[in-house]
Amino acid sequence: MSYTSLMTTDAAFSRYEEIRRRLPQTTFPSRSQSRASLAQVADDVDAFVLDAFGVLNVGQTPIPGAVERMAELRRMGKKLVVLTNAASDTRAAALKKYRKLGFDFTADEVVASRDVCAARLGDYLPLGRWGALCTDVDTFADLDADIVRWTAAKPWDVDGFLFLSSAALDAATMTALKADLHRRTRPLLVANPDIVAPRETGLSCEPGYFAHLLADETGVESVFFGKPFGNAFDDVKRRLQGIAPERIAMVGDTLHTDILGGRAAGFKTVLIERFGLFSGTDVGPYIRLSGIVPDYICPVT
Ligand SMILES: [Mg+2]
Repeated sequence: MSYTSLMTTDAAFSRYEEIRRRLPQTTFPSRSQSRASLAQVADDVDAFVLDAFGVLNVGQTPIPGAVERMAELRRMGKKLVVLTNAASDTRAAALKKYRKLGFDFTADEVVASRDVCAARLGDYLPLGRWGALCTDVDTFADLDADIVRWTAAKPWDVDGFLFLSSAALDAATMTALKADLHRRTRPLLVANPDIVAPRETGLSCEPGYFAHLLADETGVESVFFGKPFGNAFDDVKRRLQGIAPERIAMVGDTLHTDILGGRAAGFKTVLIERFGLFSGTDVGPYIRLSGIVPDYICPVT
């Protein structure tokens, strides 16, 4: 696998199954109910937690009808929270992106895995310097810690590693990271646990992909922040205080992050078929093979 290559849905699904032991364990309903859209799920819940990629947008393009559906759910009195595994954008940049796509989410309605991780940095390294795996345009201004960009060309002496983006990751940096961790064990925090993300051109390999590769090859286990891990859902529950978990629906396009995580958090789960990881394929066999069964399946948001 080269560092810029795209993955197929089959390859991504197989990889998620291979690393399943590192994901939360839970049980699932025996079958899913089909609904036309989220409007037909609304009577069963008081709040919707929405994945972004594959539910609201694909790359920089809004999914047809998603903006209107959010307005409709608001008119029905439903609470909305966006829960996204995104680690390279600051909160301000993420909000700006949603506005540009046509959505009206407020800062209080967005939980990004970057923020889930940022809030817990001090638990792992109260003092000291983080080496960030990220692109050269990424900023750390919103993160309350000493952080430098870490690459094979500039392998700073750091006390921990923070994996924010794989967009600029190269083989030399992965090799250097492996050697550095072998020399001295330090925390490796991954602020985007996704293996792939749907882009306009296909599925890109994300930080989770490389973190699992590193764990397989070196035994160095990362700490993950974001779906399907409990830390992300704890932050969502704080935003939706007073609403029982079973009256909250997690809406996503990915079985191993959105549906698995939502279920483990005690939420109802809704799989959107048409625009994300399973676009252009029949999701049925993937549900049967993984046993990750959503409560509802909708073709569109
Ligand atoms: Mg998604």
